[in-house]
Amino acid sequence: MALAAEAAELMEHFLWVGPEASAAVMVKPGKRAEIEEELADIVIYALEFANVSGIDVASAIEKKMAANAVKYPVEKARGRADKYTEL
Ligand SMILES: [Mg+2]
Repeated sequence: MALAAEAAELMEHFLWVGPEASAAVMVKPGKRAEIEEELADIVIYALEFANVSGIDVASAIEKKMAANAVKYPVEKARGRADKYTEL
């Protein structure tokens, strides 16, 4: 629950903001620091969850990237934002 709450705190900085304005938010000194803190909170809770659950994060990422490569072949997915079922 804390991980979701921190993700919401990060997303709040970009709520109702388009792509160009989001990029502008990232170069505002005070805002950037706040966003960095929220990202740190998210990573801390995610790593804590992995630690408590006994999940090897590096291994989990490798497995997920391999699965993604099968689901989203480069020749079909490059430059697209569609779900694998729509490729
Ligand atoms: Mg926070």
